[in-house]
Amino acid sequence: MDSQRGDAAVSGDTRSASGMKRILILGGTTEARLIAERLSDRADLAVTLSLAGRTAAPAALPVPVRIGGFGGPAGLAAALTAQAIDVLIDATHPYAARISANAVAAAALAEVPLIALDRPAWQPVAGDRWIEVPDIPAAVAALGETPRRAFLALGRQELAPFAAAPAHFYLIRSVDPVEPAPALPNAVFLTGRGPFDEARERELLAQHRIDIVVAKNSGGTATYGKIAAARRRGVPVVMVRRPAAPRTALAGVDEVMARLDHELASAAARGV
Ligand code: NAP
Repeated sequence: MDSQRGDAAVSGDTRSASGMKRILILGGTTEARLIAERLSDRADLAVTLSLAGRTAAPAALPVPVRIGGFGGPAGLAAALTAQAIDVLIDATHPYAARISANAVAAAALAEVPLIALDRPAWQPVAGDRWIEVPDIPAAVAALGETPRRAFLALGRQELAPFAAAPAHFYLIRSVDPVEPAPALPNAVFLTGRGPFDEARERELLAQHRIDIVVAKNSGGTATYGKIAAARRRGVPVVMVRRPAAPRTALAGVDEVMARLDHELASAAARGV
């Protein structure tokens, strides 16, 4: 595991002597950053944010950041214990199912309260032409045999299956360059970091004569522009359904704040 700063284990004794509670946020999302911002000036808390390390230059964060996997549920549980974490907050992306399942298992193993957040999914509205599919291979199949001009609004790791359908034109946008590029003979690669507004997304779809969009149902506003743009242009969206969530989750940052205060108050009442 690679570490930026703040990954040193702090013993439970040190923590309880200072009266500070230690919070670990599993991040990689806007909400995780917002939670970190809301907690960063709390004198009663020592907050660390964890990133998987997928993005070369992650956005600046106001709390210590550690980067890289923990080594499965047992590794995460060991980190929770070693760092005397009092509350684990899973604010990872709704499609990051593995780390969320690991968080459930690790919190149980280490006996640490877990607070989970998933932003609500988008719902289709009048004019939307969504084709809902269970996974990426099904999204490839949904493009059909006739050559299409597809905008793939997906992660870099999700592009390989499209090599099975090389007849289509692909417009591919990612935060970091896609390296190595997938074997797609007819593709244009863009880099860009959201938020992406509807007007700009409409221009992009028009410029590349996009006639189908492939997207995940990420929820939130930052990446909704392409969905609204597709609706406005009458373009269908192949929408990859969310993976099953391994736990119930709160819908917003305010709810997480309230639950955290509740967890801390009940721990104080128990004298821990
Ligand atoms: P994933 O499939 O659920 O996780 C794969 C492995 O990556 C996990 O088992 C874990 O390794 C490590 N990992 C994931 N998130 C981590 C975190 N916050 N801190 C430390 N290790 C982490 O996750 P993913 O879909 O690849 O997503 C990776 C990251 O990108 C997450 O932080 C997620 O919030 C963010 N993200 C994902 C998407 C998406 O569409 N999937 C979109 C935007 C942002 P170990 O088992 O070794 O601990």
